[in-house]
Amino acid sequence: MSEANLFKITQNQLDEAAEKLNLDKATHELLRWPQREFTFTLPVKIDDGTTKIFHGFRIQYNSALGPTKGGVRWHPEETIDTVRALAAWMTWKCALVNIPLGGGKGGIICNPQKMSEREKECLARAYIRAIASHIGVHKDVPAPDVYTTPQIMAWMMDEYEAIVGESHPGMITGKPLSLGGSEGRGDATARGGVFTVREACKTLGVNSKGTFAIQGFGNAGQFAALLHPEILEGGKLIAVSDSKGGIYKESGINPRDIVDYKLKTGSVANFPGTSPISNKEIIELDVDVFYPAALENVITEKNAQNVKARIICELANGPTTPEADAILYAKGIHIIPDFLANAGGVTVSYFEQVQNTYNYYWTLEDVHKQLDDKMTTAYHSVYKMHKEKNVHMRLAAYMIAVSRVAEAVKLRGWVS
Ligand code: NAD
Repeated sequence: MSEANLFKITQNQLDEAAEKLNLDKATHELLRWPQREFTFTLPVKIDDGTTKIFHGFRIQYNSALGPTKGGVRWHPEETIDTVRALAAWMTWKCALVNIPLGGGKGGIICNPQKMSEREKECLARAYIRAIASHIGVHKDVPAPDVYTTPQIMAWMMDEYEAIVGESHPGMITGKPLSLGGSEGRGDATARGGVFTVREACKTLGVNSKGTFAIQGFGNAGQFAALLHPEILEGGKLIAVSDSKGGIYKESGINPRDIVDYKLKTGSVANFPGTSPISNKEIIELDVDVFYPAALENVITEKNAQNVKARIICELANGPTTPEADAILYAKGIHIIPDFLANAGGVTVSYFEQVQNTYNYYWTLEDVHKQLDDKMTTAYHSVYKMHKEKNVHMRLAAYMIAVSRVAEAVKLRGWVS
């Protein structure tokens, strides 16, 4: 995780929106903090026969619009402030795409790459035992995030159902298809982001068949590479990078070939016929669309001045610092902010919950169509606010999301 405190950044972003919205003091103060926080110890018998104590979190940031919703990250450097920040962004994200859910997030400090399947299952079940009475379809609904998978969701659901003694597939999303998962969940984040890029190209007159580059080649980055040319009916991928290195080719890289290569070798680095490019260079590349899809705080005041992309679609959470935001806005670069750009994942998670509740399952085409409607509507509402109020896209997105949550807070009488 990066050194800048992500939670402080979310608070500063909220402060800016609150000022623009003339939000009353009490509502503003309420929205600066999580509503409920849980921290717990998780004893797990590991394979060598000893017991290891893990530390876990669950943050329910705000439930004014509905049950809180958000993934569970497993990461060796997880911190409560990162989880708080991600929970805040979930709140704004759900409000922005207009789904009746609040925001939450969870985390466990652990290194899943060094754990056996049995240890992971024990840890997943221990997490659910620690939080079972505070989660559920009408309370708080977990999902996958960094290093957590559909299999981990299946173990978590099973443990929860064993505790409550009933079937409750909607208590968690991102499940395998055969256990009540939704069609279209796997690529939903990237697909949603690419829908917003399609709308941005149309709105701004940017060449939708132009060049694009991607930083980070995991779930979000790989699907963006494949879906961008499909949804925009064109476009040339000229650079991609991951934690082990980057590659560049002016005449274009075939997205399918590079995805297959990464599957085989574990990295995009050294893909034949390309030249190496550093993670610093990829950010400053002259492209029509740049997708940061790896880490937070990569576009900062140190490099923002050199960014040349026409559109930045933030599939990663928090890739741009507030100082860089101001520089990019002044340069006329169009940012599709993270909690709009990557809202496709939670939107299809919400569809999964809806299907679980009805016990009736949609086709892939239905999911894609509903996702397109949600993302397209959200993009244009943010663009309209950005134009009308003459504010950058992130602030416009905050203004819409915060005003929706603030209205719910007031209607409930939490703040008079
Ligand atoms: P992932 O773990 O599948 O992939 C992350 C990728 O980033 C990997 O290819 C890794 O090699 C690369 N990476 C790590 N350090 C790097 C570095 N220094 N430079 C370049 N690349 C680097 O994760 P993901 O699910 O694709 O998530 C990526 C980002 O998108 C995260 O910020 C995540 O919070 C956000 N996001 C993902 C989803 C989703 O549904 N997957 C939803 C919302 C937001």
